[in-house]
Amino acid sequence: MTDLPGIVVTGASGRMGQMLMRTVLESNRARLIGAVERQGHDWIGRDVGEAMGGGAVGVKVSDDPLEVFARAHAVIDFTAPAATVEFATLTAQARAVHVIGTTGLSGADLAKLKAAARHAVIVRAGNMSLGVNLLTQLTKKVAAALDEDYDIEVIEAHHNQKVDAPSGTALMLGQAAADGRGVSLDAASDRGRDGITGKRERGHIGFSAIRGGDIVGEHDVMFAAAGERIILRHIATDRAVFARGALKAALWGLGRKPGEYDMLDVLGLTE
Ligand code: NAP
Repeated sequence: MTDLPGIVVTGASGRMGQMLMRTVLESNRARLIGAVERQGHDWIGRDVGEAMGGGAVGVKVSDDPLEVFARAHAVIDFTAPAATVEFATLTAQARAVHVIGTTGLSGADLAKLKAAARHAVIVRAGNMSLGVNLLTQLTKKVAAALDEDYDIEVIEAHHNQKVDAPSGTALMLGQAAADGRGVSLDAASDRGRDGITGKRERGHIGFSAIRGGDIVGEHDVMFAAAGERIILRHIATDRAVFARGALKAALWGLGRKPGEYDMLDVLGLTE
């Protein structure tokens, strides 16, 4: 049992943090050795099992990431951009695999992750589910097969607590569409239409975000032309799909060369 790779979960009290800890605790391929929350959080010092409303599991929530990461084989991190950037430096120092599910990272944040990946394995994806990663490949193929007579729109829906838009997954899908079409997403992206926007520009890739209730995550990629529409759709009904993907990524990353990887690498879906 103690030979199993040791996993630390950050943002322990979060929606994904709790799901990740449950997934690792239930796994027979890894063991939970630590959980991190920010200083002053009321979970600090508590057993994670008890904090989640169950029995004790012998792992306490810590506010000292450096000390916990030093004992870890992998850190699974679904928090917020500022925390993830800080954790990347600490994870690289600890030479642990850093699995990043956090979305909403800026260009400057990504540059810092790149620097950390010189010394450590980073696996990062805006969506860790098998289904969405398959959908990105399908999106790329369909976009490559169709010309600009087909307007591409990415429509996503999430719960009312989500703080960033479009979702990381929507951006992954938009990037896949741009790659398939051989264009730059930065140049083609059309976000947040409001007011007298003028006609839709040919070749643009549009994004729309719906926020409400407890929607776990839904994504459509629509290819709309005169007379027909093709819609590729993924619906996540349970956060466990992201947590299982993240644990798979952590185990896959062990012993790899330092660098940045994504779920397509983990799932063997790269072309
Ligand atoms: P959440 O419920 O708000 O949880 C975020 C957790 O991170 C909270 O425990 C929060 O603590 C903690 N945190 C935030 N800033 C921190 C900091 N500076 N230091 C330490 N801890 C910090 O959010 P969620 O729904 O779990 O989502 C978390 C992230 O994962 C989001 O970026 C979301 O988009 C992403 N996500 C990715 C995937 C994927 O497959 N890649 C799937 C689902 C979600 P406090 O409560 O104290 O702020």
